Amino acid sequence: MSDHNLNGKTALITGSTSGIGLAIAIALARAGARIVLHGQGDQQLHADALAQVDGAGAGDSQYFDVDLRDVSAIDGMMTRLDEAGGVDILVNNAGVQIIAPLAQATAQIWDTVLAVNLSAAFHTMRHALPKMAQNGYGRVINIASVHGLVASVNKAPYVASKFGLNGLSKAAALEYADAGTKARGGVTVNTICPGWTETALIEPQIQERAELHGGDREAGIKDMLSEKQPSQRISDVREIGALVLFLCSPLAHNMTGSSLSIDGGWSAQ
Ligand code: NAD
Repeated sequence: MSDHNLNGKTALITGSTSGIGLAIAIALARAGARIVLHGQGDQQLHADALAQVDGAGAGDSQYFDVDLRDVSAIDGMMTRLDEAGGVDILVNNAGVQIIAPLAQATAQIWDTVLAVNLSAAFHTMRHALPKMAQNGYGRVINIASVHGLVASVNKAPYVASKFGLNGLSKAAALEYADAGTKARGGVTVNTICPGWTETALIEPQIQERAELHGGDREAGIKDMLSEKQPSQRISDVREIGALVLFLCSPLAHNMTGSSLSIDGGWSAQ
């Protein structure tokens, strides 16, 4: 396999009908991977995402509509993929953020955030990793957050889920560290920890800040960045796609158990 040639590889990216997940799917499709998109609900969003990965060069792309709070539905999706040859690259990207002070965060909020952001990754990894080890090549890339490295107020379930995802990934990385060979690429498990990245997930926070500046969206973004992200620059989803692509290369065979920040210095403070 040349450095970024993913021909013959199958990549499942959860939550890939929008935002960071879709950018990752497009980056992997451009490198030749067969793409398995995943999302929930909106049919038009699915159709648009499929058209974009097909346009990027993915052959034979598929789509699964699965609620990640439903463990049996995750098991069903992973079993079907296993029967079709398995998953070489697993990107656990789907996530939810519900902002509330701890005492007002209900049990339902806790259960939802932990199920989607943490438990779902455990369930997909449990299925995918043994076959990756058999093949001598596999990549698990879990999209955590800067909130998996440092905390912020009013985000207790989200912060707990993302710290958990970093821990889960490190434990899995150790279990599979010696699988495969340098030439094949081995089996690695890493997380990417983005700071502010312009997607639908943070739009409510952008709007809240924009309101403080008479509805000026750019001023709202600037305000958010000045509080946390020293670069003062918001990330673009394609930057995360580019890092995922590098991690999939055999050159990254010895990068495992890492939590890689793309946060403009946020977690360095
Ligand atoms: P997004 O809202 O565009 O994507 C989230 C995806 O998760 C969507 O496709 C959504 O359908 C899916 N999802 C949510 N609940 C689900 C459920 N119950 N079942 C199935 N799918 C579900 O937002 P994004 O910013 O692209 O988020 C992608 C990941 O990046 C998330 O894990 C998020 O926590 C993380 N992240 C984002 C930022 C940021 O600033 N945007 C920063 C750090 C981390």
